Amino acid sequence: MKVFHKANDIHAWLQSEHHTRSIGFVPTMGALHAGHLSLIDRSKAEKDLTVCSIFVNPTQFNDPNDLAKYPRTLADDTDKLLQHGCDVLFLPTEEEIYPDPSVKDRSYDLAGLDKRWEGANRPGHFQGVCMVVHRLLEIIPTDSLYLGQKDFQQFLILRHMVREILQWSVQVVPCPIVREDDGLAMSSRNVRLSEQERLDSLVLHRALQYIQQHAGQQPLHKLLQAAKSIITTAGSVQKLDYLAIVNAADLSPVEAYKDAPTLLAIVAAHFPSARLIDNQVIKGQLAEW
Ligand code: AMP
Repeated sequence: MKVFHKANDIHAWLQSEHHTRSIGFVPTMGALHAGHLSLIDRSKAEKDLTVCSIFVNPTQFNDPNDLAKYPRTLADDTDKLLQHGCDVLFLPTEEEIYPDPSVKDRSYDLAGLDKRWEGANRPGHFQGVCMVVHRLLEIIPTDSLYLGQKDFQQFLILRHMVREILQWSVQVVPCPIVREDDGLAMSSRNVRLSEQERLDSLVLHRALQYIQQHAGQQPLHKLLQAAKSIITTAGSVQKLDYLAIVNAADLSPVEAYKDAPTLLAIVAAHFPSARLIDNQVIKGQLAEW
C-alpha cells in the first residue's frame, strides 16, 4: 500500500496512473471498522485502484468536545487497510487540505437538503463535509466515490454537490449499512459507549425495525408514536433529536405510506457518551440509486 502525506505527491502519482486505471475513493475519518472496510471491498471489486483517505476534518465538527474525543487509531487502521488490499492511503495534515483560507470560505447551496435533521441539529456540519470532500476530489482523481448509507443525508448532499454544483462525472455510490451482530449500526463513536449505553443503544435499531415490520399496516403517526416509546424506555437515552419517516429522494417528511416510492425511517439520539444516528429503508429500494 502506497502512503502519501502531501496533496501534490498523491495528485501527481494518481494522475499518471489514471491514464490506464480506474480509481475508487473512500474518504474516512479513521477509527476504521467493518462498515468502512465494506466500502474498500466494494471499490476493490469495481475499480483498478482503491484510495482511502483518513482525515479528521475540523470544519465538520460543530462540537469541539466531539472533535477532541474523536478516536484516532492509525496503526490499527493501516493494518486493516492492508488486510483488505487497499492500494493507496492518503494521510494529509490540515495544511494540505486547507492550504489557504479561500478553501474554508467556500459555501455550497445544497437546495435545502442541509436544512433538516442532521443539518438542523449540527449547524455548519454539511458545509464542512462538502468543503473537505470537494477538496479531496480536487486532489484525488476519482471515478467512483463510495459512501455509506449510514450517513444517508451526507450521501444525498455529496451526490448533489458532485452532480449539480460541481457537475463532475464522478459516480457517487451508496453502500449498505454494516451492523454489529445485535443490530447496532457500526460507528467510530460506538467505542465511547459505556456497557449500559451499549445495551441501551439497541433501541435505535429496534425502533427502526418496528417501523419497517409494521409499515403499510398502520398510519405512520401511530408507528412513530410506538417506535418513540421503544426508544424512550432506554434509561441512557438523554435526548431524541429526531425519529421520522421521510421521502428518501429529498428527506422531506411524509404523512402516508403511499406518499413516496422509497421511504426511509431515520433516527438520531444523544447518549451520555455519544450521539448516534441510524436509518432503515421501509419501502422501496436504494439499490438503483
Ligand atoms: P466516517 O469515518 O465516519 O466519516 O465514515 C466514512 C465513510 O464510512 C462514510 O461514507 C460513512 O457513511 C461510512 N460508514 C460509516 N459507518 C458505516 C457503517 N456502519 N456501514 C456502512 N458505511 C459506514
